[in-house]
Amino acid sequence: MRLFSFIFTLLLSYSAAAVDLPQESRVPGGIALIPLTGLNSATAPSAWYKGNRVMVLPTTETPFSQQASWVAVIGIPLSAKATKDQLMKADGKSFPFQIQDKEYEEQRLTVTNKRHVNPNKQDLARYKREKTEMVAAFKSWSTPQISSVNFELPATGRFSSPFGLKRFFNDQPRNPHSGLDIAGGQGGAISAPAPGKVVAVGEYFFNGNTVIIDHGYGLTTMYCHMSRIDVKIGDQLNTGDSIGAIGKTGRVTGPHLHWSVSLNNTRVDPLLFVKQ
Ligand SMILES: [Zn+2]
Repeated sequence: MRLFSFIFTLLLSYSAAAVDLPQESRVPGGIALIPLTGLNSATAPSAWYKGNRVMVLPTTETPFSQQASWVAVIGIPLSAKATKDQLMKADGKSFPFQIQDKEYEEQRLTVTNKRHVNPNKQDLARYKREKTEMVAAFKSWSTPQISSVNFELPATGRFSSPFGLKRFFNDQPRNPHSGLDIAGGQGGAISAPAPGKVVAVGEYFFNGNTVIIDHGYGLTTMYCHMSRIDVKIGDQLNTGDSIGAIGKTGRVTGPHLHWSVSLNNTRVDPLLFVKQ
């Protein structure tokens, strides 16, 4: 009888600790959910993919709960090749997985500020410094208590450019679109999509006024081109707290919010985290 009540308590504490998972999509720019079979420790196993620490969450969601107590949530880079086997390591064990190909659309934009297409030497030096700062923020690793990694949308407005577009600025090929653009209009409100801590605030060459929030376990979100910033580094935010306002700072063709979501220092499709 005592054993039964012990198991019952254990099950209860497990379901209480379970975290809502994002939507899986094993494509470049997507997310792989890998059940860590054979690793049933009470604490989260540490997992790594392409040299970056990977989010590992407890789960009671089917089908994962039948296979393992822990699931790795892996961000797959847009540059990943579908033909190559991917490998994640957790507690010394290897977990191979396959990704499917995905063909993203092309987008051609005309930018009037020529330096935003062909930056000069000073611009490039500035961009290099800023990139180091942003990557450090994307690599944040914290372990807050979380119950969900599902997001509210940070702004209202039309989705003007989806994630993953192959981009050409003034007919020159550039990096693919690593976020989702929301055209909410100049001055539109931007709010935190989930609880988190502000880890970067800057006025960047391409991204304009920018904020990066750490949500824990390698999950970060970035807000760009803002007209106003309402937060500072170290601020602890709850879902819905104001971050600032939509603007057109940096490399833009009009006012919008560029929203990036990053897992294991890899930018992925933000909509995979938004409950549809
Ligand atoms: Zn964008």
